[in-house]
Amino acid sequence: EAKRGGGGRIVFFAPSMEVDARDQMELLGDLRRALEDPSASGLMLHYQPKVRAIDGTLIGLEALLRWQHPRRGWVSPLQFVNLAERSGLIDRLGDWVIREACAQLATWRALGLVVRVAVNLSVLQLRDVGLPSRVRARLEEHQLPAGQLMFEITESTAMQDVEATLHILDALAALGTELSIDDFGTGYSSLSYLRRLPVRELKIDRSFVRDLDEGDERQRADARAIVEAVVRLAHALGLHVLAEGVETPAQRQVLVQLGCDELQGYLFARPVAGETLTRWAVGEDCPPALRIDPGVAAA
Ligand code: C2E
Ligand code: MG
Ligand code: MG
Ligand code: MG
Repeated sequence: EAKRGGGGRIVFFAPSMEVDARDQMELLGDLRRALEDPSASGLMLHYQPKVRAIDGTLIGLEALLRWQHPRRGWVSPLQFVNLAERSGLIDRLGDWVIREACAQLATWRALGLVVRVAVNLSVLQLRDVGLPSRVRARLEEHQLPAGQLMFEITESTAMQDVEATLHILDALAALGTELSIDDFGTGYSSLSYLRRLPVRELKIDRSFVRDLDEGDERQRADARAIVEAVVRLAHALGLHVLAEGVETPAQRQVLVQLGCDELQGYLFARPVAGETLTRWAVGEDCPPALRIDPGVAAA
């Protein structure tokens, strides 16, 4: 079906696109309502361990958004984070994630569990000059050491509009929070800019980890070369390097061999609810490849 769009352009609509658009509108309405009372509307954070590569010891957690929608079931954050970004809801959603992560950190501290939590930030949150002061307010509210909070931004986010981004990242770093560059290797980094960022960790993207033991000989060799180069770069700049999406012992072995400091992936643990992690920390049903030291200190 063809329709005449504005300016005399011919625009083609597939029926499925209309359904899709209507579906997105409905989801957006649900998200807007959910944000009025997130915890009562199925929005929650799950936490996935980051471990020391050599022995699987827990050294941090990544907070990942989950939405258990009343009719749709689990909706992927890839779906609704993007929707929130396009509709101006990301600031509210992002603030809730920070608030929720800080509340969980405080709960764990009270139980003697001291661990760093990383929160993912959208590129739009890095355009918000009010972000650092709101982060400070949350830390103060819960009397948290700032170093227990880390932010993850993707490599492409970090390299976008660098002057504005640097300004906000420096303000966050001045509070004492940590920074990680996510999905590293998938964007185009300016190395001189990377050096100026107040960054602690590079996360090698899952696609390279997957290719370490999948695909043909050439793909595996390329993935190895890329991982090796990122490890060298990170260490030369004094940064930690973490590989994400580690699923097999073979991947782990290569990553340790290549000098990766930290690992994250289903081989160690899936993202789980905060209470599940609390139980693991006292030794209940802790996954076999994961080690949790008593009172884990933030590394
Ligand atoms: P990300 O930050 O790169 O997170 C890693 C994704 O890989 C997560 O998917 C995680 O569940 C998944 N994962 C972890 N280990 C493995 C593994 O061994 N194998 C495989 N196949 N997957 C693994 P998830 O939770 O669906 O999140 C997807 C993306 O959504 C995240 O990518 C992040 O970009 C975004 N996201 C999630 N939570 C938030 C949030 O609070 N704020 C923002 N802005 N974005 C978020
Ligand atoms: Mg991340
Ligand atoms: Mg990632
Ligand atoms: Mg990723």
